Amino acid sequence: MKKDCIFCQIVAGESPAKMVYETEEFLVFTDIHPKAPVHVLIVPRKHIVSVNELEKDDLAMMGRAYQVAQEVVQKLGIRDGYQLHINVGEKAGQLVDHLHIHVWGGWKVKQAG
Ligand code: 5GP
Ligand code: ZN
Repeated sequence: MKKDCIFCQIVAGESPAKMVYETEEFLVFTDIHPKAPVHVLIVPRKHIVSVNELEKDDLAMMGRAYQVAQEVVQKLGIRDGYQLHINVGEKAGQLVDHLHIHVWGGWKVKQAG
């Protein structure tokens, strides 16, 4: 746990978040500034700064993040259309230095005609 990390604080229960799904390794909660009708974050409980800091021992866990994504999109009813997105580094718009996967979905399909 990194004391000044907002996501570590959420993991520790010191900061509130709207929890959607939890496993031993991950939390999934709604983003406070949603960029899509459904916007949740898949966050490993372990503090890892970004994809660049992933170590060999973390790779299997990150594989399981996709299993978490499958469960979450099913639960949220967006399985038929969603985006997964990871920002790495300030230049790419990473604001929180604790690895997370954005899940975006919930758009209405434009009706033909
Ligand atoms: P990044 O830009 O680092 O890829 O994404 C960080 C995301 O975390 C942003 O979409 C931002 O809205 C969200 N966020 C930042 N602080 C908090 C917080 O305290 N609680 C929640 N639920 N989301 C946060
Ligand atoms: Zn952290």
